[in-house]
Amino acid sequence: MSNFTEACWPKNDQAACSLTVVVPVLNEEAGLAEFHLRLMMALQALQVTHEILYIDDGSTDGTEDQLKSLRNHHPCVSVAKLSRNFGKEAAMTAGLQLAKGQAVVIIDADLQDPPELIGQMVDAWRQGADVVSMRRRSRAGESWFKEASAFAFYRVFNALADVHMPADVGDYRLLSRRVVNAINQLPERNRFMKGIFAWVGFRTVTIEYDRHARAEGQSKWPYRKLWRFAVEGITGFSVAPLKLATYTGVASALLSFGYAAHFLIKTLLVGEAVHGFPTLIVSILLLGGLQLMAIGILGEYIGRIFLESKRRPLFLLDEYEQATSLSSESKP
Ligand code: UDP
Ligand code: MG
Repeated sequence: MSNFTEACWPKNDQAACSLTVVVPVLNEEAGLAEFHLRLMMALQALQVTHEILYIDDGSTDGTEDQLKSLRNHHPCVSVAKLSRNFGKEAAMTAGLQLAKGQAVVIIDADLQDPPELIGQMVDAWRQGADVVSMRRRSRAGESWFKEASAFAFYRVFNALADVHMPADVGDYRLLSRRVVNAINQLPERNRFMKGIFAWVGFRTVTIEYDRHARAEGQSKWPYRKLWRFAVEGITGFSVAPLKLATYTGVASALLSFGYAAHFLIKTLLVGEAVHGFPTLIVSILLLGGLQLMAIGILGEYIGRIFLESKRRPLFLLDEYEQATSLSSESKP
């Protein structure tokens, strides 16, 4: 593979870096070599100066050693190792902060996003796009439940949130330097990146592609995590659930006033005795449930305020070895 190296990074000049490819990786040892080979071939065909920045998000398998060896063999590879698993959103944030390129592509390491499309993305960027997002025309190898929940999530998010998140567009995208700078300026700890990408705006071009099945290994997103991710996305970009709590409260109060008036009139005018127990228990349970739900919604937002107010860093770097000969400075 050594014949790939020359095209990477000429003359040790960081300003010459046109493109950084950010790859968040968590335990991808099985497929990483193939991914790297395909990425290198795709990039070499482009003839742009580039850096491949792997963010090791606390891998516990052989990924770390593989990344070290890639870095030793290819001067255009940078490797940043986070101190533990911070999650893909934090890994992408780290990648955007460390990237040197004039454009940044974010890509998964499992070959679900074909690296061969980077050429089309770079072309669109050269023609003036600031964001090139990739819309999945089809998704191979995903369960019907995952497809249906993703479909529902994009619709619910767009109905509730203040920004529009295009459906079926994942994290695979190209961002120009000014978009990366804009994102890096956002101070929030809750990094729901799809929402952040939508929030910053700028000239966007969308390219359609067929998403493949995972080449090796397992998805790192169990349904429990996906649910948390969805709640984080919605509460991070919308206060609609709080309004929902308010309006549900108002609606149930109005309903109970009407109900009380109904019984009052019935007793006074018709003189019919009121059968209390069923109505009582139903209304207590209903109101109790609504109140708990409203407190739960409040809790989600208070939790968010709590996490934001601690102002902890989004991730911690354990090691960072940069591309080019600068790498000798990065470690004692
Ligand atoms: N990933 C990561 N940190 C995590 C989970 C995933 O860096 O906590 C990486 C993973 O190695 C892969 C990408 O993010 O390169 C997408 O992950 P995955 O394929 O598991 O997600 P899916 O495609 O199922 O949405
Ligand atoms: Mg995947």
